[in-house]
Amino acid sequence: MFIATSLKEQMARAQDDHLRVLIVGAGVAGLGLAQALRAAGRQPVLVERAADHADSGYTLALMPLVDPLIRRIGVQAAYHARSERFHRYVLHGRHGQVLREYAVDSLLECEGNYRGIARGELLQALATDGAPVSYATTLTALRQTPDAVHATLRSDGATVEAEFDAVILADGLHSSSRALLLAPEQVSEYDSGWGGWMVWMDSDAAHADRGDEIWGKDFFVGVYPVKGRAGVFIGGHRDDTRAGLPAFVSHARAQLRQLDPWLERALDAVAASDAPPYYWKLVDGRSNTWAQGRVALLGDAAAGFLPTAGIGAGMAMESAGVLAWRLLAASRATVAAALADYERAQRPRVEAAQDNSRSLARFMCRRSALVAWLRDGLARMVSLKAALGPIRKLLDTMPE
Ligand SMILES: Cc1cc2nc3c(=O)[nH]c(=O)nc-3n(C[C@H](O)[C@H](O)[C@H](O)COP(=O)(O)OP(=O)(O)OC[C@H]3O[C@@H](n4cnc5c(N)ncnc54)[C@H](O)[C@@H]3O)c2cc1C
Repeated sequence: MFIATSLKEQMARAQDDHLRVLIVGAGVAGLGLAQALRAAGRQPVLVERAADHADSGYTLALMPLVDPLIRRIGVQAAYHARSERFHRYVLHGRHGQVLREYAVDSLLECEGNYRGIARGELLQALATDGAPVSYATTLTALRQTPDAVHATLRSDGATVEAEFDAVILADGLHSSSRALLLAPEQVSEYDSGWGGWMVWMDSDAAHADRGDEIWGKDFFVGVYPVKGRAGVFIGGHRDDTRAGLPAFVSHARAQLRQLDPWLERALDAVAASDAPPYYWKLVDGRSNTWAQGRVALLGDAAAGFLPTAGIGAGMAMESAGVLAWRLLAASRATVAAALADYERAQRPRVEAAQDNSRSLARFMCRRSALVAWLRDGLARMVSLKAALGPIRKLLDTMPE
C-alpha cells in the first residue's frame, strides 16, 4: 500500500538514519530500492513527480532477474498473486501464420518464474508492506560537497532545501534530474524509428499463460498475459503510425490472412479502444557515467530500454537490489565508493542486455517484404534457445 507522506515528514524520519538517502522517482527501480532499504530498517526519502500511483500502466514480462529483489523485500506471495505465469510463446509470421510455439520459461530454465504483470500491479506488490511516498515532488537542483549532497526540491508547489548523504536518480527513460548530474553529451540514444500503442483486453483460461507476437512486413503485434487480462501492443514505423491507431490496425489487418481467433480478438480490442491510448516511441537511452561522488543513476535513467527484449524492468530491479546491498554496507564516509562499485558491477551487465535489445530492434523493426519473408524462414530454422543465448548468460551470472 502506498502511503502519501509529506516531504517534511519523510525527511524528519531520515535524519537519524545511518545514511540519509534521497530517491527520485517511485517507479520500478526507485520503489524497489526504497523498499529493499526499508525492509532492512532504513528510512530513505522517496519522491515521485506524479500525483499518485493509480495508473495500471503497461504489461511487463519479468525474468527471474527480479527474484532476488522481490525476496529481499519479502513480497514473493504478493508478486505471485498479482502476476501470471508466462509459459507459452507463439511466434507468428508476416501473414499471421503460426511459425513456432515454445515453452519459453522452460527454454529459460526458469519454469514458473517468467511472469507477466501489469506495471501498476508490480508497484502495488512492491509496496505491500507500506511505502511512504511524497507525490507531486521533483528535484530541481543538486550541489555536492565532500561531506554531503545539498538538494533543492519542489514539493506540492513549495521549495524545500535538504541535505543527504546520497541521492539516487531513478526518474525513468526521460529523466529530467539526470541533467543535474551529467552534460547532454554524456547521454546517447538509439532510435528504432518505430512507435506504438498498448491496450488491455480480457483474457480467458485457455490463454492465461500464453503470449503471441506477429512480426509483420511493416508492423508488429504482441499479446502478453497478465493476471486476468492481456496487454496488446501494436506498432510500426512512425511514418506509418502517424495516420492514427484505427488506420494502422486496418493496415496491419489487410496483411493478415491466417489469423487465429485469439489474435482477431486482440485486434478487435485495439480497434475498439475509445480514448486513444498513450503512444510509445521506441527510443532508448544510455548514460556514459552512472555515479559521480554521492549521486548515482538507477534503472532507465542510467540505461533506458527498448521493449524489444522485454528485459528493462528486470535489469532495473536487479540493479536496485545490487545498489541496496552496497548502500546497506556503506557508511556516510564510504558511500561515494559504494556508488562507484555499484556502477562497476552493473553497467557492463546492463549495457550487454541493452545491446541485445537494440540488435533485436534492428531485426524486428524493418519495413521490407523481402526481410519479412527471410525472417519467417529463419524463425523456422533458428532455435529460440540459441536466440535467447545472451539472456541466458545474464541469468546464469546473476549477482547474489
Ligand atoms: C511499452 C513498454 C513495454 C515494456 N515491456 C517490458 C517487459 O516486458 N519487460 C521488462 O523487463 N521491461 C519492459 N519495459 C521496460 C521497463 O518498463 C523499464 O525498463 C522500467 O520500467 C524501468 O524502470 P524505472 O524505475 O527506471 O523507470 P520507470 O518505471 O519509468 O519509473 C520512473 C518513475 O519516475 C517518475 N518520474 C519521472 N520524472 C520524474 C521527476 N522529474 N521527478 C520525480 N519523479 C519522476 C515517473 O513518474 C515514474 O514513476 C517496457 C517498457 C515499455 C515502455
